[in-house]
Amino acid sequence: TVDWKGRRVTVAGLGVSGIPAARVLHGLGAVVTVVNDGDDERSRAQAAELEAEGITVRLGDGATLPEGTELIVTAPGWKPDKPLFRAAAEAGVEIWGDVELAWRLRGPQAAPWLAVTGTNGKTTTVRMLASILEAAGLKTAAVGNIGVSLLDAVLGEERYDVLAVELSSYQLHWAPSLRAHSAAVLNLAPDHLDWHGSMEAYAADKGRIYEGNQVACVYNVADPATERLVENADVVEGCRAIGFTLGTPGPSQLGVVEGLLVDRAFVEDRQKNAQELAEVSDVQPPAPHNIANALAAAALARAFGVDARAVRDGLRAFRPDAHRIEHVRDVDGVAYVDDSKATNTHAAEASLAAYEPIVWIAGGLAKGATFDELVRKSAKRLRGAVLIGQDRALIREALARHAPEVPVVDLDRTDTGAMSAAVQEAARLARPGDTVLLAPACASMDMFVNYNKRGEAFADAVRALAGAGPA
Ligand code: ADP
Repeated sequence: TVDWKGRRVTVAGLGVSGIPAARVLHGLGAVVTVVNDGDDERSRAQAAELEAEGITVRLGDGATLPEGTELIVTAPGWKPDKPLFRAAAEAGVEIWGDVELAWRLRGPQAAPWLAVTGTNGKTTTVRMLASILEAAGLKTAAVGNIGVSLLDAVLGEERYDVLAVELSSYQLHWAPSLRAHSAAVLNLAPDHLDWHGSMEAYAADKGRIYEGNQVACVYNVADPATERLVENADVVEGCRAIGFTLGTPGPSQLGVVEGLLVDRAFVEDRQKNAQELAEVSDVQPPAPHNIANALAAAALARAFGVDARAVRDGLRAFRPDAHRIEHVRDVDGVAYVDDSKATNTHAAEASLAAYEPIVWIAGGLAKGATFDELVRKSAKRLRGAVLIGQDRALIREALARHAPEVPVVDLDRTDTGAMSAAVQEAARLARPGDTVLLAPACASMDMFVNYNKRGEAFADAVRALAGAGPA
């Protein structure tokens, strides 16, 4: 254990991870300086509060390394090529992210971690996993970007038997010493490449989740890149590679047979070579990508020793979060579906595959993505497309290349009110039996505070279309 008394720690970023980290480290006796790029009204108010507690805050200067810094604790979103980190590397100063901090402070002592990453499906899978663990009578929490914060989970009053932990690629990048009980990488598709620099670097960061695993490394049979990450990981002896598949499972795999989720990896009854876990219809929504999430959650729970019955009960009790393929309502025979959480092309592809014909509402911040593959795969399902947001031209051009016959309305707008106009345009293009699908394939921050607000704007516009007031 580290003696924090008098240790000079620089916390990079005032925010959801920075503020609690600064407080915890200050409480342990460290001399904390918070550095922050922004210097707006909100950060000034936050800074004033921290300063009153004895924590130094430097606003408007996230680039300069404070004198005498011995350790940096960074917000996960800070890009590795920032000048602050270059200065730290030159000075030989270690950099920890929020996950590394939680792990080093009390991670392994708090509870075993069942960890989940992937380009898409993390939150859903972690919540399914927590639901299964609860059904097994275990004290657990879904932590990470959701529910309880990691620092609270490891340092708080509550005692847990096991934690279901969602980890982003950023968090993994900054968490070199994390060692999970078991972990899953759900899928790997290009996302956040502007941050990581390349697909290889992105995959390598995701792959860190398997390092030091004790019992199982869970991978996606349909996504060989995830299996390669398992092969390259340095794990505890006896740790097993467990695949999940939407097809018939091989040995050491979980999969689907005749509408049942089955497990051939952790079979309890030695007379049988597979164990039934649940029915496909127990999983909500029963879309293929979501069955895959359920299998990954089941694999991690089974690795922790949970029985088949708890898997079924936990999956039945699970309800999806808002803005994830959420059916808002029907208007004039057209279904309106909110998948605002589809913030990249891989997620949008999954929801576009679940409907036909579709009037697609898309656009926003592309984050370095290209749209040719998505449009090529989805073209035949499209009745029309309505484009909004900053990078919509990229989607418009891909549509022109691969779906020239599909009518496209380019709204040429990035204001918040554009969503209501988009829904009206979509309603004009749609015919009874169609689905109007908000699956932006882009981040929301060019127009909205976050994807929740984008989804709410969509739902409000749909209700207005139906002549009803906002919810
Ligand atoms: P994350 O936490 O990784 O962002 P979510 O569970 O919040 O994942 O889902 C994000 C988006 O990805 C949703 O729009 C959902 O429809 C889609 N999605 C969920 N699971 C998968 C999957 N396994 N493969 C592809 N897309 C998925």
